Amino acid sequence: MRFEHETLAQRVCFAPGEASATVRAEVERLGGARVMVIAAASAADLAERVTVHVPVVLRHDEVVMHVPVESAERARAAAAAHEVDLVVSVGGGSTTGLAKAVALTSGLPIVAVPTTYAGSEATSVWGLTEGARKTTGVDARVLPRSIVYDATLTLSLPVAMSVASGLNALAHCVDSMWAPRTDPLDQALAGEGIRVLAAGLPAVVADPAGLAGREQALYGAYLSAVAFSSAGSGLHHKICHVLGGAYGLPHAQAHAVVLPYVLAFNAPAAPEAERRIAAAFGAASAIEGLQRLRAAVDAPKALRDHGFDEADIDDAVRTILAVVPADNPRPVTADSLRGLLRAAWEGADPMDPMP
Ligand code: NAD
Repeated sequence: MRFEHETLAQRVCFAPGEASATVRAEVERLGGARVMVIAAASAADLAERVTVHVPVVLRHDEVVMHVPVESAERARAAAAAHEVDLVVSVGGGSTTGLAKAVALTSGLPIVAVPTTYAGSEATSVWGLTEGARKTTGVDARVLPRSIVYDATLTLSLPVAMSVASGLNALAHCVDSMWAPRTDPLDQALAGEGIRVLAAGLPAVVADPAGLAGREQALYGAYLSAVAFSSAGSGLHHKICHVLGGAYGLPHAQAHAVVLPYVLAFNAPAAPEAERRIAAAFGAASAIEGLQRLRAAVDAPKALRDHGFDEADIDDAVRTILAVVPADNPRPVTADSLRGLLRAAWEGADPMDPMP
């Protein structure tokens, strides 16, 4: 056994119902005296409650998915003008992403309070978009110093969004099994993430106002993000990155739709990953486990339902081919990628031969 694994340094607090006290403790521990709170306008009340005990000098609510550079620049300028010394983000991956954009150029510490299952809070990956081009990078400065997970803050996340977001987390786990830097630790975390999400998401659907499923989904999201941050982007993330950046597809829904097609494509060439994923689902095969879960939670089915145009398939194939990981378990050709995207566009059965 020979591998290198980098463990990221951050404090992770699971504190159901205690976000405000925990955020105060984390801000004090980090010495924050002039705090910028980033939260979308729709989360203003939530953010106000969560930060009631911290010295806030600035509330910033211009949150846009995929972090356009112009909005990043405005947030950075506002932080500098108010002499901010710490950022608290309260929201989903878009909100965390804006806080990361501020930290990328300023080095300011972040206390992240996630309200979806995207997992960005546990990675050192940042993303910015300029026009239709999304750029991502890895930088230790953007890793939040503390995460405060309070499942009560996710109770308001609508069921359909909870499902899509949870499947985004599941995609981190599945892709981590074969991503370029995968190692046994990533695979252990990813396997546990799959097990927890497969139990948690149906519980969220069955009882959206209950805490049990929400807590499991957050825990699974954290595990998935730690695995993904270390393993890097595999084929699935490369595809979804292009779909989100160039065609504006909603992030979580794109992940939720594409995942079974990538799994069906790669699994025959990745028997060890297939075995681990199947075992984590408690199913006879990986794809059977995933499809059982997707049926139970009424997962998003087709890219055409989420704004992807059939006429863009060939263009997307060209863009994705240029970034496919060289060591993907199965060689990827323009034809196979076109077949995969076409099947995902129409929502075909992933077990059928791809057109
Ligand atoms: P999002 O943050 O845009 O949230 C989706 C929707 O849910 C928004 O309308 C938001 O207002 C709403 N919402 C969020 N929390 C809510 C709550 N508790 N109650 C009610 N509504 C709520 O989307 P997302 O899927 O969380 O994140 C997607 C973004 O995160 C993308 O830009 C993606 O690239 C990025 N991301 C980055 C990483 C990384 O490692 N850097 C990982 C995952 C995702």
